[in-house]
Amino acid sequence: MKNDLTNKLFLITGGSKGIGKAIVEKFYESGAKVAFTYNSNQESAEEIISTLGNDTSRVKCYKLDVKNYNEIEQLIPQIEEDMGEIYGLVNNAGITKDGAFFRMQPEDWSDVIDTNLNGVFNMTKAFGNKVIRRGEGKIINISSVSGLKGSQGQANYASSKAAIISLTKTLAREFASFGVQVNAVAPGFIATEMVDAMPEPAKKKINSMVPMKRMGESEEVAEAVEFLASPSSNYITGHTLVIDGGLTA
Ligand code: NDP
Repeated sequence: MKNDLTNKLFLITGGSKGIGKAIVEKFYESGAKVAFTYNSNQESAEEIISTLGNDTSRVKCYKLDVKNYNEIEQLIPQIEEDMGEIYGLVNNAGITKDGAFFRMQPEDWSDVIDTNLNGVFNMTKAFGNKVIRRGEGKIINISSVSGLKGSQGQANYASSKAAIISLTKTLAREFASFGVQVNAVAPGFIATEMVDAMPEPAKKKINSMVPMKRMGESEEVAEAVEFLASPSSNYITGHTLVIDGGLTA
């Protein structure tokens, strides 16, 4: 019963691949109804639905750019009309545009902040007013260990992820009396396309730095997000759960 998400509707951003895809699949397996978004990968989003058995009363995908507040304001009522009241939100969508600070262009900074941080603001703003009126719900934000420790070559990304942790704590305080928990996860190196794009020697170096000597799997992040979405975590709010094989220990 504890991790049972049966019939609760979750909205998951960036569900078309990587960690978001694993969260969509895990939540579906746990009995949830899932509305997830893609930005450019419509084909892979539709493939996920077909792999899950094409039950569109339980899983649907929608195109969304989290940078666009107007799109979000229209999407949320649309999802609720299609699938029912949204119980929880997982802010997963994110990008990187890495580079040493002195070479980082202003647009590299603003693209990452707009997507990773303003995207979380936009989604939470549009959803938050509804959920606090309902008196129960969960918001889970995907941060990163880069947001805890800083990360060379990722001034934009690390800043966006650190701000998400602060936003999580603040919203946890503001939403607590409305019965809504707000938590974050901070993954370390997880084997997704984002990390796959790195050269082999860089990947080897990462593995040697991690006390558990391997990268994490998307499914391992999804398990932690599921916990924070479930009744098992009902007295936890404002917390950032680190999933990094001991990297920041
Ligand atoms: P991927 O690049 O594999 O997936 C990113 C997802 O975000 C895709 O579904 C993509 O949609 C979506 N997306 C990108 N830009 C936008 C946008 N403007 N609006 C809406 N959706 C968008 O990333 P990961 O799975 O690796 O990462 C997922 C989250 O986890 C991110 O927040 C990332 O920062 C965080 N994270 C990842 C780590 C890792 O090691 N991989 C470590 C720590 C944190 P589409 O494909 O349709 O364009």
